[in-house]
Amino acid sequence: MPRVPDEVFRAPKGVHDVLPPESGTWATLVGRFADRAARSGYGLIVGPVFEHVEVFRRVGEHTDVVSKEMYEFEDKGGRALALRPEGTASVVRAYVQHRPTPPWKVWYVAPNFRYERAQKGRYRQHWQLGAEVLGVDDPAVDVEVIALLDGFYRDLGLSGVTLALNSMGDAQSRPGYVSALRAYLLDHASSLGSEFRERVEANPMRVLDTKVPDWQDVVGRAPQLTEHLSEPAREHFEQVQEGLQALKISYELAPRLVRGFDYYTRTTFEFQSDALDAAQNALGGGGRYDGLAEEMGGPATPGIGFGAGIERLVLALDAASSAPTTRRLDAFVINGLGDAGSVATTVLVSELREEGLGADRAYGGRSVPAQWKAADRSGARYGVMLGRDEAARDAVAVKDLETGEQVEVPENGLATWLSDRRELGSEVAR
Ligand code: AMP
Repeated sequence: MPRVPDEVFRAPKGVHDVLPPESGTWATLVGRFADRAARSGYGLIVGPVFEHVEVFRRVGEHTDVVSKEMYEFEDKGGRALALRPEGTASVVRAYVQHRPTPPWKVWYVAPNFRYERAQKGRYRQHWQLGAEVLGVDDPAVDVEVIALLDGFYRDLGLSGVTLALNSMGDAQSRPGYVSALRAYLLDHASSLGSEFRERVEANPMRVLDTKVPDWQDVVGRAPQLTEHLSEPAREHFEQVQEGLQALKISYELAPRLVRGFDYYTRTTFEFQSDALDAAQNALGGGGRYDGLAEEMGGPATPGIGFGAGIERLVLALDAASSAPTTRRLDAFVINGLGDAGSVATTVLVSELREEGLGADRAYGGRSVPAQWKAADRSGARYGVMLGRDEAARDAVAVKDLETGEQVEVPENGLATWLSDRRELGSEVAR
């Protein structure tokens, strides 16, 4: 057989495997988010990983994500498709296709694909937890969506998180503002080079959140959209702020927060973490996209949502050494009866699992010392030994794998004994 280079059997640049035990943190995060979303009336949406490329063109032909970073391909039937670079467009496409009764509240956990310059916190496949609400333009829904993400981060005990809030205005406020901004920026463009001028000509709002040091001064003094809001947009923005204040969710007004897509209208927001590098400190964010359903051929439908990166959240939790406790095994069953105990081990492990406990075992007739080693490695709270002496009394020996303390427990009372001790360390932390 011809030799294949070793790198072919490694994950491609910019993507990664998430393995145990780190993946335990992922499972906990997804579970907590699912729980919170369900408690707020959101149902799970599971969508395709690829769509017709047009679905994503609608979210911003002028954005890097769509114009430069998209994984586009033609399938064997000649269709122009793309791996999804973000979550909102697919959800809106599903809404337009299925026309569910609004308000339509959905959440998702899904991978996104962007051909980015790979570095810590920036990958070519990353995962997002997200939520979207279609069909309501009540500011109460903006508050609810922000509170959902805020509550999720708060549950995790994350500190150093700031909520940046802005309004991008509506169809009435935007055109006037964009021409005022363009005129101002072009007036000051002479010393800032051709790239600045080109970007301003294409879409002046896209330079507002620039990280280029030479541009900051001019951009910092540019007219602000919040000063040009139409009356309805200003009122909406005020009501969103009142709602956040009533829920004691602190925020900072960020007039230059425009975020990466063209579709945003009115409320936009971003949660930023000071535990992450400044260039990618965004933990999660989103906003309103009141015109997007219509652009996809659907009825005029307001919408709002967010996407929150899982990898960045894990980095922020690691930096604060506050990864949530993941569920550990309650018991590791050790067969001290040799071949004769093999089936008894299978039965006991199965019974504990049926009782809702976490239980595991070793395989392949290993020695008792090797099984104890496996028990330690498994992270289980207790080792449960099926031994000859204990079996004669219908009991098992139970050893606390942290303290080494050992007690004898009647076999038919084992599940209850373990359940009674669950709060003492093996429950998923809240
Ligand atoms: P966006 O869809 O660009 O608004 O991003 C939403 C969130 O996804 C960000 O706040 C990040 O947490 C995360 N994210 C975006 N792009 C990447 C990436 N290339 N690698 C890792 N996380 C990302």
